[in-house]
Amino acid sequence: MRKLSALKALKRLPTPEEQLALMREHVRSGCEGRPGVYRMLSDEGEIVYVGKSKNLRTRLLSYFRCVPGEKGASIVRNATAIEWSYEPSEFAALLTELRLIKRYRPRYNVAMKRDARHFCFIKVTRGSAAKLVVVRGATHEDAATYYGPFHGASRVGDAVRELSDALGLRDCRADQPMHFNDQPELFQFGARTPGCIRYEVKKCLGPCVGGCSTAQYGDRVMLAREFLDGASDAPIEELRAEMDAAAERLEYERAATLRDKVARLEELREQFIRFRFAVETLSFVYRVPSHEGADRVYLIRRGRVRAELAAPSTPAEQQELDRLAAEIFSSNERETAQVPTHEIDELLLLSSWFRRFPVELERTGKLAS
Ligand code: SF4
Repeated sequence: MRKLSALKALKRLPTPEEQLALMREHVRSGCEGRPGVYRMLSDEGEIVYVGKSKNLRTRLLSYFRCVPGEKGASIVRNATAIEWSYEPSEFAALLTELRLIKRYRPRYNVAMKRDARHFCFIKVTRGSAAKLVVVRGATHEDAATYYGPFHGASRVGDAVRELSDALGLRDCRADQPMHFNDQPELFQFGARTPGCIRYEVKKCLGPCVGGCSTAQYGDRVMLAREFLDGASDAPIEELRAEMDAAAERLEYERAATLRDKVARLEELREQFIRFRFAVETLSFVYRVPSHEGADRVYLIRRGRVRAELAAPSTPAEQQELDRLAAEIFSSNERETAQVPTHEIDELLLLSSWFRRFPVELERTGKLAS
């Protein structure tokens, strides 16, 4: 880490051009052509941008060749200091960059969009009137549940619409007022009208118009979660039981509607399985040569780095690596489509890395048994 100490030697505030010249000199005189991460800091010490490079010196000097209007020029002109630290490899720099961005959320770093073109997730929003939304990645501010990743946002969007229809979940805008029928005080001003036609055509339970209770709606959201999780047939079985019960009560119209929903859900289950990216393929021991010194070993399971350590150089170190790998890869982790919010960016980053550099897969080793 380097400080822009030359600035302090000035007796007055530097002009913008002097500031740039000082920063350029700071990089020229101190930065080496090695992998690493860098941080641009404002006058107040705020980290305004974080980046990485496999050649820090070349990357940082390129900022000073940016012409006005380019993003690089805007970043460097809003910074008064540059700090950097070296990393053993470009891969290590990528991981550190991700962690710094998540920690500091610099204003010039747009949301992590790695591999967002290739993948999407299904988000179950928070609150008593949750809904399903197709998104490209997690947003920092919410604590929603995410499922995926899936290929093909548009096909997944169609399937999610049908799943919402089958389970009676709302798909209206976030600020649509909700009035569950166990909130009687909300009806004191008379009957309400639904916010859209989906309630009348039986594609939504109608939480906006007292068509269901909070618990009834919550049960359907739970079915959707189980369905997306892929862990159980409970949603289909539950609707089938409702269908049988309706038939026994001679409610044939309702039974027929439920039969269609069950059939559609069975098709959707197959579709979601086809669309889902197999995160299980991103499970291995990955050995990465270091720019200097010992190689690093990453234990990656289901697209997330679970441990990182220096490559073993003695039998005892090899034993320790084997023990750790056995612990990580044999742990009883259920194969679920649910992805913790804080792991989404790392999953996208790793899938993007191995997609861009498929030759890197040759450095991956078999899992410990
Ligand atoms: S019926 Fe009401 S709750 Fe359902 S989607 Fe339409 S506006 Fe939303």
